[in-house]
Amino acid sequence: FRIALDGHVALVTGASSGLGRHFAQVLAQAGATVIVGARRINALNDLCGKIVDGGGQARALPLDVTDRASIEEAFSDIAAGGLDILINNAGVTATKSVLDLSESEWDHVIDTNLKGSFLVAQAAARLMKTQGRGGAIVNIASILGLRVAGHVAAYSASKAGVVQLTKSMALELARYNIRVNALCPGYIATELNQNFFQSEAGQALVRRIPQRRLGQPADLDGALLLLCSKAGSYITGATLAVDGGHL
Ligand code: NDP
Repeated sequence: FRIALDGHVALVTGASSGLGRHFAQVLAQAGATVIVGARRINALNDLCGKIVDGGGQARALPLDVTDRASIEEAFSDIAAGGLDILINNAGVTATKSVLDLSESEWDHVIDTNLKGSFLVAQAAARLMKTQGRGGAIVNIASILGLRVAGHVAAYSASKAGVVQLTKSMALELARYNIRVNALCPGYIATELNQNFFQSEAGQALVRRIPQRRLGQPADLDGALLLLCSKAGSYITGATLAVDGGHL
């Protein structure tokens, strides 16, 4: 059946580039009114222009997920029009041996990916509970939150934390019909990582993916729409890996 999000308002964090930008376009195409949040407001305005030109509805909101005041300001704005869907996507990485990782690099990754996800999900859940019409929160974790790899200790720890945060929130919020699920992408091609995946190390990594190819952002669309629409109405606390079959 057709997944329609008409009449739904969705917030996508980290929508100024990469997967977040793609997710916002997918939700708008499905009929949702999309609020796109990030720090680079020009990139958000550019995205909103594209969505509106394509017949969708979108507006930009400045948002720094590491800054509680910024989150509070964003949500006092969002509260006026309501919120049905949160795609908790903003994230950063630090690729370094655990032996060399500095405290500030650790803090930056954990503050953005784990604490930022918590603060935004909490604000969304509070608003959804007050509205009394349920809601869907999709936390963008990573397969690196489920499996290990070298040189991504802080990132892996943050994403494993997001997976457990998801399960805890789902358990508590189910009674309000607020569903909370984790989407764990595998290796997905975006502008930022294309050089790496063309390198020898990147190609070697791709050869280890059972489907023998890098994921494309569109490979995530089905899972995203499932978790945030009526199609997934009885799914909560789930961890859905979309990774070409990582072993
Ligand atoms: P990008 O670097 O392209 O996008 C990251 C986004 O997060 C940007 O829009 C950035 O916007 C935003 N962001 C970073 N810090 C903050 C902040 N403090 N407040 C608000 N927004 C912030 O990365 P991807 O698109 O690849 O990644 C998106 C998500 O998907 C991340 O959570 C990542 O961990 C996850 N993921 C990605 C995979 C991949 O292969 N690409 C695989 C698995 C998971 P701005 O700088 O404007 O604030």
